[in-house]
Amino acid sequence: MTVQTRQPASSLFGTPEIEMCDRCGMRARVRVVLDGGELYFCRQHAGTYRETWQQRMYLVKDLPL
Ligand SMILES: [Zn+2]
Repeated sequence: MTVQTRQPASSLFGTPEIEMCDRCGMRARVRVVLDGGELYFCRQHAGTYRETWQQRMYLVKDLPL
């Protein structure tokens, strides 16, 4: 699986904003911290990729609702 990472949004906007899923654009519910950046996923895509994260021991955080 190839993933595209991006810089944390907080560095661009200064304050936390509602994050969007990097796959479908829905409101993100999970943040995944990688070596090169962060990824955001909605519930559906969080389930899709969760197994990959656990295998690589990425840090996964649930976002506040
Ligand atoms: Zn999604």
